[in-house]
Amino acid sequence: LTALLETSVLIVGGGPVGLGMALELGWRGIDCVVIEQGDGRNLLPRASGISVRSMEFCRRWGIAEEVFNGGFPTNYRLDTIYCTSVTGHVLQRHPNPPIEEQEPLPFSPENKHRLPQDLFDPLLERAALRHPGVSVRRRARLTGFEDKDGHVLGYVQPLAEAETYRFDRPGAPLARTAAVLSAPGGFIVRARYLVACDGVASGVRTALGIETAGTGPDGNPVLSYSVSALVTIPDLLKWHDMGEAERFVFVGPDGIWGNLTVVDGRDRWRLSIAGTEDKLDPAGLDMAALVRRCLGRDDIPFGIDAVTPWRRRQMVARKLRCGRVFLAGDAVHAMSPTGGFGMNTGLGDVVDLGWKLEAALRGWAGPGLLDSYEQERGPVAWRNTRAAAGNFQPWRMRLDFSRVLDTAPEADRDRREIGAAIKDAFTGEWVSWGTTMGYRYEHSPICVPDGTPPPPDDPMVYVPTARPGSRAPHAWLDDGRSTLDLFGRGFTLLQFGGDAGQAGPLRQAASQRGIPLSVAVLDQPTAADLYQRRFVLVRPDGHVAWRDDVLPGDAGGLLDTVRGGCPAARHAS
Ligand SMILES: Cc1cc2nc3c(=O)[nH]c(=O)nc-3n(C[C@H](O)[C@H](O)[C@H](O)COP(=O)(O)OP(=O)(O)OC[C@H]3O[C@@H](n4cnc5c(N)ncnc54)[C@H](O)[C@@H]3O)c2cc1C
Repeated sequence: LTALLETSVLIVGGGPVGLGMALELGWRGIDCVVIEQGDGRNLLPRASGISVRSMEFCRRWGIAEEVFNGGFPTNYRLDTIYCTSVTGHVLQRHPNPPIEEQEPLPFSPENKHRLPQDLFDPLLERAALRHPGVSVRRRARLTGFEDKDGHVLGYVQPLAEAETYRFDRPGAPLARTAAVLSAPGGFIVRARYLVACDGVASGVRTALGIETAGTGPDGNPVLSYSVSALVTIPDLLKWHDMGEAERFVFVGPDGIWGNLTVVDGRDRWRLSIAGTEDKLDPAGLDMAALVRRCLGRDDIPFGIDAVTPWRRRQMVARKLRCGRVFLAGDAVHAMSPTGGFGMNTGLGDVVDLGWKLEAALRGWAGPGLLDSYEQERGPVAWRNTRAAAGNFQPWRMRLDFSRVLDTAPEADRDRREIGAAIKDAFTGEWVSWGTTMGYRYEHSPICVPDGTPPPPDDPMVYVPTARPGSRAPHAWLDDGRSTLDLFGRGFTLLQFGGDAGQAGPLRQAASQRGIPLSVAVLDQPTAADLYQRRFVLVRPDGHVAWRDDVLPGDAGGLLDTVRGGCPAARHAS
């Protein structure tokens, strides 16, 4: 084998999570290489919903504006319409304004956004590549790796021109030894760490022997079998009078059977059908008939661009770290798309991991810092897969659907009642502030509990709190910035009132340890009310590490805890 490529972090998989990892590391000045087997073209857009928290990550990466203008029409209405078909009966409607008309949120400087993956992934890639030290190698597959002598060696095989690549192909088996080395044309990447963002069928996870667990009560990771088709329907709006919609949810005598989701706000749509394995056997599936069923007429022209069968899973990897190898994104957690949590949870993973890898590479991490990645993100993976599965429950509602297609006048009343029940049950899928914003690192060894009780973990409701482990909350500052804009690549001490000199011992202890720390003295009652303590130490990922009304007598001890150095209990208030 010929070439050897040296880098700090080898990232396997150039989906949104791998590219997010590259962007996070590049933004931190850490060099990395992404290995991706796909060519970056003809991506089948799965994720489209970008959560508020992910938009906050984009804000700190400096790309929120770019995402906003990324190509999805911001004046397009995002209603959900429960109906028998696009041209059939409307059962209920959940109104949702276009992106540009969304009310500002009291708890964030950002708002949720919509951008299909075939636009979002390339945007992340372009942004990552703007940072020197980031490179992306496409049409190359990791075929094996070794973790030895303080490095990871990744064996990479460029794909031959003739070798076609399919987006949904399960991960090719990987070898953990150098046995695969002899292939001509391949190269080795030598890195300090490897982050596997190689998707639900993660070859790295399999090679490491890391098992997965179903997170539902019966432990079964498969919730249902689905098939999605990417469909082009020119001028669909002209064929019906329901107006613009983000999503049509279809109800028939057989129950809720599918949905049509907007992709580009113009002609492209994704039709997803839920069912059992036998029903969705691609060999016996007439996708065109299903598209016609969803359209409700046979004369609307359409084209089917791609058909992808997939399993709706509720599954989490039992380990997120093995030596110098970390798992992130779908490689860790596979969840039902109901709620749009998958990619967003993966972006949360890389923001948690990014600063810890930086600290390890720059030499200021304590011995437990890298382990805290699993301790913090593992519980979030379980929580979010459960929330997503909970949102899938309404799809199995058992109501009397037998008359939904009836034309008799009294059938309208039945439809309205069924629609009201469905709309109510589905609300959790569209209103998920608690799931997307309220995750916190309870029991993390690198956060110092302050004895206050956690707010309820309600999937629909987010309660801003500066309790250690939580996302440091947003408040507008007098100069027009958000408190979130104060949190950078290092730790930030927020000090409410008093003079900056008070933090001297903490600054000194940080500089002795090489820990980047800045101090922001704020004199703003709204922010002070929200943070509830005079001193709040915010981590490089924007989560609260510690807070109190007085600075600790042992500033170095506190910093040792939050950098993964010693037990948290020593510094509890
Ligand atoms: C219908 C549907 C709708 C969804 N909607 C949303 C949504 O609105 N919001 C949301 O947050 N999530 C959504 N999701 C989930 C989302 O698509 C996934 O969570 C997300 O794509 C995971 O990103 P990832 O980068 O971890 O994995 P992937 O996107 O699967 O990327 C993994 C990459 O690794 C590459 N790879 C694998 N093995 C190798 C190897 N050995 N060498 C090189 N490359 C390799 C693959 O080619 C692939 O590009 C949806 C999913 C579905 C099915």
